[in-house]
Amino acid sequence: MRATSAASAINNSTLTLNLDDYPGGVAIWGALPAILDTTTQKFDRGVHVHARLTHVSKKCIDATYESVNVVWRNQQFLIDEATAVHFSLASIFHHKIISLTCEQCSQSILSSQLFSLIPHHEHICNHCGHINFTNKACVTNPVIELKKNLSDNTIKRKAMLPDRSLNIEMNQYPGGLQIWGSNPSIVWTASRAEESAIHVHAYANHERRVIDNTYSVVCLDGEYLDIEMIRMWQIQKMIPEVMSNVSVVFCPCCNTAQFDKGIYAVIPQTSRKCQQCAISFSHESRVSNPIINILNKFNHGDTHE
Ligand SMILES: [Zn+2]
Ligand SMILES: [Zn+2]
Repeated sequence: MRATSAASAINNSTLTLNLDDYPGGVAIWGALPAILDTTTQKFDRGVHVHARLTHVSKKCIDATYESVNVVWRNQQFLIDEATAVHFSLASIFHHKIISLTCEQCSQSILSSQLFSLIPHHEHICNHCGHINFTNKACVTNPVIELKKNLSDNTIKRKAMLPDRSLNIEMNQYPGGLQIWGSNPSIVWTASRAEESAIHVHAYANHERRVIDNTYSVVCLDGEYLDIEMIRMWQIQKMIPEVMSNVSVVFCPCCNTAQFDKGIYAVIPQTSRKCQQCAISFSHESRVSNPIINILNKFNHGDTHE
């Protein structure tokens, strides 16, 4: 699957990762492009991995691969980019995600693109084209099988907010900024809780990264960035037919910018009840996410859009 906006590079590599070799914990995500990127760095597409030898040691793996072969005891499971990225897209919603084997070719089916965001009954096999049915509407992804085998039955694990905040001005970092929202990881083996927050890179110049951390509060040029809105936009911009419907809808009465969640973050509406003053109003068919207006203020120097 291609990123829609950022210049991208893919690592032509498969990492074989034995979970037992990293008692400090392993985490695996699908890499999504930043929601704000004013650098000239290339976006690293693929499957992103963190691994630590001990709980207190620094990460000995912090890199992105084309695919990751996860090994534990006598088993193995290959996570490729499409599987990882579509899990990252689906994971922030409260949809049912299952693993489903095609009744014709016996391969595991992946709900991709828009189908990763909207639960459905008809699942077209991405290997042989056969249509499989499920009684309940759901999203399918092969990594659920891996999670089951690792006794990891949650999509969204209990996460914690880091006790860190960041208040910066854009012009302090001539090398540019990159901002992401965190997503639930596919695999998380550390005993500590996963962090749910805003990840920031800031560059003093072309090469020197001076900020590389995760914050629960980020204020950029006086604007507080909302983690939920960031996370949603990060996903909306991956699917062109969703992205083209997203703008900011304001209440005609109290002027509050509306923020659509759940299925309405994907499927546009033409009428709604204001989230602030509860007045009902209609508008052109739109999905609303207020982060768009905030990001537009910062995007002048963006070389990727
Ligand atoms: Zn099939
Ligand atoms: Zn209102």
